[in-house]
Amino acid sequence: MNDFAYEMITTTSLVETSPDFYTGNMNGLLVTVEYISNRGIVEIRFGATDLSEDEMSLVCQAFRDYIDSRRSHLQIDEYSICILLHTEQNWQFRFRRILEIIDSIGFKMDIHSGCYLCGETGDDIRPYEIESLKAFLCPSCAKRTADDLCENLQEKTENSRFTAYATTGISDHEMYFPGTIAALIGALVGMVLFFLLSLIPFGHLLAGVALTFLIFFAYRKYAEIMKVRGLLISLGLLFFFLFFALAITLTPQIVSSVNAVQGAGTLTSGSVFFSFIGYLNHPDAGRSVMTDFVLACFGAAATVTGFIISTARKNNQ
Ligand SMILES: [Zn+2]
Repeated sequence: MNDFAYEMITTTSLVETSPDFYTGNMNGLLVTVEYISNRGIVEIRFGATDLSEDEMSLVCQAFRDYIDSRRSHLQIDEYSICILLHTEQNWQFRFRRILEIIDSIGFKMDIHSGCYLCGETGDDIRPYEIESLKAFLCPSCAKRTADDLCENLQEKTENSRFTAYATTGISDHEMYFPGTIAALIGALVGMVLFFLLSLIPFGHLLAGVALTFLIFFAYRKYAEIMKVRGLLISLGLLFFFLFFALAITLTPQIVSSVNAVQGAGTLTSGSVFFSFIGYLNHPDAGRSVMTDFVLACFGAAATVTGFIISTARKNNQ
């Protein structure tokens, strides 16, 4: 038995509904307590439907001495009130005080406690565990949540678990860091593909498509959703890697064509590499250089456009 289970069994009347999740009724308030071990947090929540301004300030007052931003945190959602408590040293003392306060709020104040999602206060509110959402729910919210979760919402609830109860629903959270790392890896794979594709005639078109697709697709897959910031990150990566991919594939062509006309040693790869764009129009650089450049840019631009359209549709679903 862990500290949390011991604490729950010895000091509360709540019953274990599922592992690390306890529920019960404290003086009319529907209370859930969940231990989120990987975050070191205990989430204590009770239903509170249609709180008036006065009730809200009384509730805040009641918890005042046991809430500070470092160790515990009060969150008032539309139909429930939540206290997040970090399980640091001596957390049990704060925990017991918080439960006592909830007990006395239930005793003294006339707060209606119901479904955490819609606020309904019927007799049929029960604790549910639907994937990662654990809450007192009315039957219709339980059904709706279960239906929604079928569509891969589990991870999203995971990311926004502290706002999942608000009626704004489950917010979309863009995970920049994993998205950016994935896009970087996609870009490196894309560089290899770009180089290989550039070896075939007109292959630069496909090369531009492949590099762009790998960056954008990897970002969206690992960030789970792509919004404006993700688009800017991906576009930044695309410009950077496309520039170098083109420099790597076009510089040898430019140098050999120009040197073939003007004599060996006229140009060196080092002098062309970073300024290859300036040589695209060079009369002796060969027409294929400009063609390859345009094809790659066109492939990239078309892929970005297609990707933006598909992402906008996906986000609006
Ligand atoms: Zn409901």
